[in-house]
Amino acid sequence: PSRPLASAAAAGAPTTPRIQKIRKKYLCETPPAVLHDLKGVKEYDRGRQLGEGGFARCFLVQNKNGTLFAAKTVSKKSLTSPKMKSKFFGELAVHQKMKHPNIVRFVEVFEDPVNIYMILELCHNKSLMDMMRRRKRFTEPEVRFFMLQLMGALKYMHGRNVIHRDLKLGNIFLDEHMNIKIGDFGLAALLVDENERKKTICGTPNYIAPEVLFGGKDGEGHSFEVDLWAVGVIMYAMLVGKPPFQSTDVNSIYKKIKHNSFEWPGSVMISQSAKALVNALLNSDPDARPSLDEIANHNFFKAGLFPKSIPLSASVRPPSST
Ligand code: ADP
Repeated sequence: PSRPLASAAAAGAPTTPRIQKIRKKYLCETPPAVLHDLKGVKEYDRGRQLGEGGFARCFLVQNKNGTLFAAKTVSKKSLTSPKMKSKFFGELAVHQKMKHPNIVRFVEVFEDPVNIYMILELCHNKSLMDMMRRRKRFTEPEVRFFMLQLMGALKYMHGRNVIHRDLKLGNIFLDEHMNIKIGDFGLAALLVDENERKKTICGTPNYIAPEVLFGGKDGEGHSFEVDLWAVGVIMYAMLVGKPPFQSTDVNSIYKKIKHNSFEWPGSVMISQSAKALVNALLNSDPDARPSLDEIANHNFFKAGLFPKSIPLSASVRPPSST
């Protein structure tokens, strides 16, 4: 996978001093208190750091009207290698084209002498990953709600020939009303047409589809279905509290993915329809996975409560009535 730093952390692998040193080299210094573009026209007041990823730091910022945003900040010195450059400009090109209520809105991009700033819609309630850390797992009505929003965003993306390729709990953010917003298009691929196939091995170990790791049928590469596999991993993780192929090291994860080896724990009550949908998504054969419409029409969505919205309190404790 082309993203060893982020991947190692996501897979639960130890962060060695060497990895920390490399990250330090790439991550930007703390930007000035007021961000300006080169012409001095754009202006944002910078606040606290919201988080940091494999190669970007994200800060809370405010425009002159007092509206809050997130500024994803990448240092120019980290963009010297062709690989980093193509990742960054690829992310920019794809994300700029996306406009959907369940995708982090891209506002604008500008640079100062040191950094490039991507101004994004602020997601007040962090990611599903953070929510899961606090909650351990979600209720089935919550899973229905998040899954359907995810399907809507994916239908929009795939309809525009975009594969996200790094869908995971940590890249699904929550806005102030607990609606999901898909973010981080750093590994997204914009296909020239729906028949194009991709061959780059990329993603995050726990969420990588087998055809990405092993080249697909006759080495033909992968396509949209890799996102559906990741949705299967996400849904399992929301229900169970950990991803299905979790292991102590990356190679063991890949071995489990190769052999489609995952189990449902006896200790957690999970409905048959929920299990059936996850099992269908985690099919080793990409062509056999259900389509987005088939997923949305699955029994799981009719088999129980479907909340109209998720209360803010759900980010810390299970709802009492669902
Ligand atoms: P990378 O591409 O380096 O992995 P991410 O896009 O995942 O970077 O962002 C890094 C971190 O910044 C996220 O884990 C999250 O904590 C925070 N973050 C990113 N985008 C937003 C946003 N729109 N609103 C709030 N926080 C965000």
